[in-house]
Amino acid sequence: MSTPHASPGPAPTGPDELGLDIESLRARYRAERDRRIRPDGGSQYQRLDGEFGYYADDPYAEAESSREPLTDRVEVAVIGGGFGGLLAGARLRQAGVTSIRVIEKGGDFGGTWYWNRYPGIHCDIESYIYMPLLEEVGYVPQWKYAPGEEIRRHAQAIGRTFDLYRDACFQTQVTELRFDEAESEWIVTTDRGDRMRARFVVTASGTLSEPKLPGIPGITDFKGHTFHTSRWDYAYTGGDADGGLHRLADERVGVIGTGATAIQCVPHLGADAQQLYVFQRTPSSVDVRGNRPTDSDWAQSLTPGWQRRRMENFLTLVTGGPADEDLVDDGWTRTARLHQKLIPSESHRRQLPPEERERAYEAADFQKMNDIRARVDAVVEDADTAELLKPWYRYMCKRPTFSDSYLETFNRPNVTLVDTADSHGVERITEGGVVVAGREYAVDCIVFATGFEVGMSGVVTGRLPVHGRGGITLTEAWRQGPKTLHGFYSHGFPNLFQLGPLQNASAVNFVHVLDEQAAHVAAVVAAARDRRARRVEPSAEAEDAWVATIRQKAADLYRFQAECTPGYYNNEGRPRQRSESYGDGPVAFHDLLEKWRTEGGLDEVLVQGDGGTA
Ligand code: NDP
Repeated sequence: MSTPHASPGPAPTGPDELGLDIESLRARYRAERDRRIRPDGGSQYQRLDGEFGYYADDPYAEAESSREPLTDRVEVAVIGGGFGGLLAGARLRQAGVTSIRVIEKGGDFGGTWYWNRYPGIHCDIESYIYMPLLEEVGYVPQWKYAPGEEIRRHAQAIGRTFDLYRDACFQTQVTELRFDEAESEWIVTTDRGDRMRARFVVTASGTLSEPKLPGIPGITDFKGHTFHTSRWDYAYTGGDADGGLHRLADERVGVIGTGATAIQCVPHLGADAQQLYVFQRTPSSVDVRGNRPTDSDWAQSLTPGWQRRRMENFLTLVTGGPADEDLVDDGWTRTARLHQKLIPSESHRRQLPPEERERAYEAADFQKMNDIRARVDAVVEDADTAELLKPWYRYMCKRPTFSDSYLETFNRPNVTLVDTADSHGVERITEGGVVVAGREYAVDCIVFATGFEVGMSGVVTGRLPVHGRGGITLTEAWRQGPKTLHGFYSHGFPNLFQLGPLQNASAVNFVHVLDEQAAHVAAVVAAARDRRARRVEPSAEAEDAWVATIRQKAADLYRFQAECTPGYYNNEGRPRQRSESYGDGPVAFHDLLEKWRTEGGLDEVLVQGDGGTA
């Protein structure tokens, strides 16, 4: 399955040798960005609360099971039952913690994979590196890119393997965390009337978990059927995640949005609806998928530690590091290798002046996007439609997508692409349809493939109030900006661990980052138990030093992002001045954490009595 990485290969290709018309490509990208920019930025969207709250109802859970409110005590409460929470639970279990309670809003484990069950759902990262704990659970995925249902079942298998169902609370939302100084433990309050206690709390509530709707005028006037892709209404469409949406045979359907979700569900809507209108504002880049079943000989040949080696190899390659081979060998790693063709070695890269490095990256990017655009021409028969489907921006301006059936769908006679870029999106929704450029497209059903609120957990936004020592809230403590040590813990908030990219690492395979985070948290909790520490809490000085490191190393993505077409990657065209993730990248960050653990770092956070460290 693995392809040796061409090495050392031919002499580097210079950007000028690629035959690109760089100036006109730059001008085209700028024009597309300017055409798309909206003055209202992120506020063009609305959250699913109030009159839109029903869009977020759980269509999968059985009737809410009644239970008595809990007032008991656990050693660790984990908020969130997606892969972050499951990994935290598993790694804590491996570290010897017996009392673990996962608290989850959904009716089961899975997080994203619990909520998202739309037709065609697959992971866009290779399953052998995306699905965590494969060796621990004793499972090899059946496909290179697993369908959502297989991933959801794997989440359940992790829950069973690590005995996390025993104390789990599903259909339960944490409403407040309050630190009880006298007992040195957290009081966890929930919407089910619970008031439980936990010595440690781990928050793993996800970064793309709150669906959002566009604030399109007239959205409440629509008399037909509507739903968001993350709450797919199979009772209405028929079929399941494999497709077969037979109830749409006489229906006219409109889908709004053409991001990574739409790329996967549009082929099924196109196959089964009487008529499908795809309302597009910005086309996605759609690269080759090449999914295939797992080769059983390969699966048999795997040796212990294979998954970690593969995950690390992928992470190294996609973050621009050197590797002798490319184990995953797919669209993600091949694109990263394109950069290396232009700047082949790490040392060469470091020696290049920044402007030359940027020129090489830009040239590789233009070449990649030219290939993506050429693919549209090769697949889509109607020339006007093909033109509209071509993305004019840099590769990482938006989440790259992969599909071998999305572009083909536009060759169907019942599928129409409606471009909305000039009006900054759909203009209006009426009782019976969707209006673009003054024309009403009559539809019976509107599917919102319009994405999720991004980046911030409820703990960070204050939607989940956290009261630390002295009753101070986390949002008050962070008024001047987030302050953590390594992204995990904050002064004044003992025994509270946060998972997520903030002042930590980020990567396209985010589950890998979550696993490193979970292992780190488990090691710190285990050390706190072994040394009988009263609290885990960084000093204000350690926190300040880490914030200074984050600032000093912060990648300046401002210029790159400002030139991108708007989307959630660049805060809808209003990029933040600096990144809040560790600037040297995830590989360096994971090394840093390991060194910190083995070279006395734990002494900085384990507090014995009311003052000194353990
Ligand atoms: P996105 O936020 O990526 O896409 C939302 C879409 O809605 C965009 O195409 C957007 O256009 C469009 N849109 C929003 N408002 C309007 C409007 N008023 N009129 C017309 N169009 C509008 O959401 P997705 O759910 O597609 O994906 C979210 C993320 O989830 C992905 O980026 C990815 O990280 C993750 N994901 C991962 C998958 C995996 O396999 N691992 C699969 C699916 C999703 P515009 O671009 O112009 O803003």
